[in-house]
Amino acid sequence: MPLFCDVALAVPLDMVFTYAIPPGMEPVVGGRVLVPFRQQRMSGIVVESHDRPPQVKTKKVIEALDLSPVLDEHLLNLGKWIADYYLAPVGEVFRTMLPLSAEFKRAIACRITDEGRLALHLAGMSGSPARSKRTPEQQLIEFRVLDYLAARESVREESVRGVTRVAKALLNGMVRKKWIAREDVSAARDAARLVKVAVLLDAETAEASPPLDGRGARPSTGIAKKLNGNQRTLIETLAASGGRLPVEALRALDVPRTTLSTLVRRGLIELVDEPQDFTVSVSKLKPRQSPFEFEFSAAQNEALGKIGEGVLSRKFGGLLLHGITGSGKTAVYLACMRQVLEQGRSSILLVPEIGLTPAVAADLHQVFGDEVAILHSGLSDAERAEQWHRIRRGEARVVAGTRSAVFAPVSDLALIIVDEEQDSSYKQEETPRYHARDVAVMRAKMAGAVVVLGSATPSLESYYNAKKNKYALLELPDRVERRPLPEVEIVDMRQEFQETGQEQVISRKLAEEIRERLEKKEQVMVLLNRRGYSPVVLCRACGKTLQCKNCAVSMTHHKRERKMECHYCGHVERIPDKCAHCGSEYVYFVGTGSEKLEELLHGMFPQARIGRLDRDTVRGREDFEHALNALNEGALDMLVGTQMIAKGHDIHGVTLVGVIGADMALGLPDFRAAERTFQLLTQVAGRAGRGQSPGKVVLQTYFQEHYAVQFAARHDFAGFYDKELQFRAWMHYPPYSAIANVLIRSEKLDEALTWSGELGRWFEKTRHEGIRVLGPAAAPITRLKRDYRYHFILKSPSREKMNALLRAMLAEVAARKIPRTQVIVDVDAVWLM
Ligand code: ADP
Ligand code: ZN
Ligand code: ZN
Repeated sequence: MPLFCDVALAVPLDMVFTYAIPPGMEPVVGGRVLVPFRQQRMSGIVVESHDRPPQVKTKKVIEALDLSPVLDEHLLNLGKWIADYYLAPVGEVFRTMLPLSAEFKRAIACRITDEGRLALHLAGMSGSPARSKRTPEQQLIEFRVLDYLAARESVREESVRGVTRVAKALLNGMVRKKWIAREDVSAARDAARLVKVAVLLDAETAEASPPLDGRGARPSTGIAKKLNGNQRTLIETLAASGGRLPVEALRALDVPRTTLSTLVRRGLIELVDEPQDFTVSVSKLKPRQSPFEFEFSAAQNEALGKIGEGVLSRKFGGLLLHGITGSGKTAVYLACMRQVLEQGRSSILLVPEIGLTPAVAADLHQVFGDEVAILHSGLSDAERAEQWHRIRRGEARVVAGTRSAVFAPVSDLALIIVDEEQDSSYKQEETPRYHARDVAVMRAKMAGAVVVLGSATPSLESYYNAKKNKYALLELPDRVERRPLPEVEIVDMRQEFQETGQEQVISRKLAEEIRERLEKKEQVMVLLNRRGYSPVVLCRACGKTLQCKNCAVSMTHHKRERKMECHYCGHVERIPDKCAHCGSEYVYFVGTGSEKLEELLHGMFPQARIGRLDRDTVRGREDFEHALNALNEGALDMLVGTQMIAKGHDIHGVTLVGVIGADMALGLPDFRAAERTFQLLTQVAGRAGRGQSPGKVVLQTYFQEHYAVQFAARHDFAGFYDKELQFRAWMHYPPYSAIANVLIRSEKLDEALTWSGELGRWFEKTRHEGIRVLGPAAAPITRLKRDYRYHFILKSPSREKMNALLRAMLAEVAARKIPRTQVIVDVDAVWLM
């Protein structure tokens, strides 16, 4: 029996912590333990148990939470690799890998004690519980509580109160008398894999606790009369499911959360903890036609064959599936995953944050039924945990989800597919700053699985790897059924200005094309990748703009919501009627966001039904699905929006795509600006002409000669990549160098300056062969969320050397007592802003 264990805790320290194991306790490696840390109790992952006494006095493990590991050996190793590669504390990595935080919420249950039983027994003999200062009425309630608890193991406190109508003070009194015990079942509940279940109490139980005025029993018909619509829905659902359902399943009903608590309070429903296995999920998706009704093209079949071969070999293999928009990549993914499932093995499909469209989810359900677990960002913590358990128990061997689904605890992993592998939502922008695509490749390597990176616009890194034969390249060069790619027409907005003498948002050409489509009853999408009404408020008297008080960025005007909002920190202010600097009343709202674009289009095409899709109209997943369904069903003529409209959607009625401000990103000081612009333009262009009628794209730009715009207009992927790769080689940027962004931040300007100066001098002194260190320089966004920001950019042909230097730098940071949280190390940074 080992005496000690090393525990990884989710704290910003690059170390593990040693605890003593009390006799009789058996924490498992890869399992969670509850330990004291500073003034708190924390849960952490056991990474090793051993008999090596540490130098310092150790504290004891409070509780072992798991009987078997929650992270198997593979995932433990993957986590350690991530910690090492991204220089992140391993405890924080493990926390990211496990969606189990919900299981640590405090849950209080009541249990009757032996003394309580005795009191109940005596009361039963004498008619009232023991000697007491309580009124007869209170004694009656106490009796009722004891009687209720005597027949049960342990019941949630809210249920005790609901069923027996006991007042909190009276219950506290019973605890003081030691008749009942309160216990924190949070951890215990987790260890035993319990879920909260709602149980419909029958009329008899309800009758056993008449209301206090004692006017007799409450017949169930009487209760039914007193229920409102929501309450009835809930009760009927429960009744239809045999009287019990997990609380999480009830959440899928369209009733407010308070309804359940009201019913619990009224004693009609009780909450108990039951073993997880009992769980069922409620799916609201309607089935569609099978996605396999068509015949695969030769290219699709070849891709399927190659991937299938790789899977059968049970060896690691990486493939880049480069298929133009509308070439049928999704169908290939589904077919591969089905093959894997037929072999009794597991697969994971990663999709970008907004790529999990209702259509894809419906296809997955259609093909895989209950075998699929879908992990999207709209899940609550508890739902996420439930899916995690389903996957681990082997009930769901097909997993589809966003970034963190790469950690799904599947067994016998055969295949990971990363759709739209270039998407920046795969990079986590907080610690650990991992890239899910790269983690997927590493996980596949460790598991001897196949990884498929799919895209119409692969990242330069992946394309380069394919060129160097690190990945096999699979191409789907044609659209399905030989549908043509849309014709792209570029409108030069400088010329438009000269000819019309006015700054136009919508060019004459685009307006004409839109009118034509609307007349033909075809659909239109218009992209403007900036939300809000106007992005800038400018004073004509002094020339100053309204900036966020926390960030060095302009506040955006939101007209309908009558506010100014900072898109970086969320700070909100009222709309100014005069300049904050000089008091002048000449404040102007300049520029156009998607809200204003929608208004302009309404003005131009009053008959058209126009929808908008951006983060202001899409609060949750439902809004997103709603807008897309409306377009799909022909309830909208036009959809306006930000990049949310650009990706993945397969809507056949859209024949025209307009792009406004196609080139906004080209002005940003970021070496990936051209790549992002090319990808966005290609993606959005790919929405046009996916049905029977061919599509057209009108691309408005101020940089018409820029190669990203030109190559996108010609659908020339190879041309763009060759040119861009040249630049990257000259400038020593990825894929020719590894890069890292080191950001120093503080709310105090002089701290940020001093620290970055100190580290700057340290970098100068330290010899680091072949590594370029740029900076310190003010970050492009010099102030963000109150922090002043300075940064260094490191470029190195050798990743090992770069990471060694970064590690040495972190040691210097610690030695200088610069707080670790104020120094962000971002390896393979995606944003340098
Ligand atoms: P991509 O993801 O490559 O843009 P999708 O997988 O969304 O393309 O496919 C585009 C459309 O073509 C979808 O409606 C899909 O059902 C359909 N499709 C896929 N393969 C075929 C095929 N071989 N024949 C006909 N239609 C197909
Ligand atoms: Zn002013
Ligand atoms: Zn701000």
